[in-house]
Amino acid sequence: MNIALTPLTSWQDELKNAITCPEMLLKELQLPSNLLTGAKLGDALFSLRVPRPYLNRIEKGNPNDPLLKQILPIKEEASTVPGYVSDPLAETSANHQSGLIHKYKNRVLLILSGACAINCRYCFRRHFAYDDNQIGRQQWASVLEYLKKNPQVNEVILSGGDPLATSDQRLLNFLADLNKLPQLIRLRIHTRLPVVIPQRMTSRLLTGLQASRLKVVIVLHINHPNEIDEDVIQTCQRIKSHDITLLNQAVLLKDVNDDVSVQKTLSERLFAAGILPYYLFLFDKVAGAAHFDLEESVAKELVGQLQAELPGYLVPRLAREIPGKPAKTLLAPLLNT
Ligand code: SF4
Repeated sequence: MNIALTPLTSWQDELKNAITCPEMLLKELQLPSNLLTGAKLGDALFSLRVPRPYLNRIEKGNPNDPLLKQILPIKEEASTVPGYVSDPLAETSANHQSGLIHKYKNRVLLILSGACAINCRYCFRRHFAYDDNQIGRQQWASVLEYLKKNPQVNEVILSGGDPLATSDQRLLNFLADLNKLPQLIRLRIHTRLPVVIPQRMTSRLLTGLQASRLKVVIVLHINHPNEIDEDVIQTCQRIKSHDITLLNQAVLLKDVNDDVSVQKTLSERLFAAGILPYYLFLFDKVAGAAHFDLEESVAKELVGQLQAELPGYLVPRLAREIPGKPAKTLLAPLLNT
C-alpha cells in the first residue's frame, strides 16, 4: 500500500528553518540559561544545527533528554583529550580523488554533499574537509572513470554529509549514470534525513530509486527509540513500498543509548517500522566528542545482555572501524537465532 504524506512544509523549507542559534535552542526547549556559555563554545567549533521535526521530539525542560544530548554543543567539546583526533578513521589516505573514498575492495563511498540536516555532536566527520571534496560536473566524470577502471567495485555508497541534502534532480542524474555501469549491482544510501526531516522522501525521489536497475538499500542512522515518531514510521512504510531495503546503523553513545532497555526498545521499534537493526558502532575517537566514548568491555557486556533479550535478527552487530582493515571489525557476532 502506498501511503502518501502531505507535509505542511517542504523539506527544503525545513532545512532552511533548522535552528542554528544556541540562544533560540535553549529558549524553545525551556532549558536553563547556564547551558549557554558551553553551547556557544561548542557551536563555534562545530555549528549547531537541528531541524524542527527532530526538535519536536525533545522533551522540554529536560537537559538530559537523549535526543538533546546528540545535538546540544557543550563546553567539553573544546577539551583536548589524548587519543582523540580529527580523522579517526584515516579517511584522508583513502580519499583517492575529490568526493571519492575507496576503503573496501568492492565498495566505494561518494561524498555527494557536505551538508547535513542535523549536526550530530559525535560525528566522526566533524572535521572532514568537505570543501576539498565537492563533486561538480568535472569531478563526477572522474568518479565514473575511476569506477570503470575498478571493475571489482559492484556497490556505490552515497554518503556525506548527508547525500539526500542534495536535490532530487541531481541525485537522479547521478543515478542515471550509475545505472549505465554494468559492474554495479547495488546502490546504498547512508542518510539521517528521512529521520530528521521525514518529508525529504519525495514521491519523485522514491519513484526514481525504484526505477533503477540497481538494488537500493537505505541505511538510516537512528540512535534512540524516541527518534522514531509517527511521521518516521509512515516515511519508512513509503520507502519500503518502493522495493527499498531499510537498515539501521547506530552509534553507542554514553548517556544517550548505553542501556540495555533503550537498545532493546530501539531494536523493537525499528523492526516495527520495517527497519532491520544492522550495526551498533563503537564511537570513533574524534576530537571534540570524547565525552561520548565508552569502554569496549562495557559495549560487549551490553550487547551480550541484549542477546539474551532479543531474537538474533534484532541484535545489531557490535562493530568498530579500524583504519586500514579490509572490513569492519565485529566485536560481538551473533551466535543465537
Ligand atoms: S554525517 Fe551523519 S552523523 Fe555526521 S553530522 Fe551529518 S547526519 Fe550527523
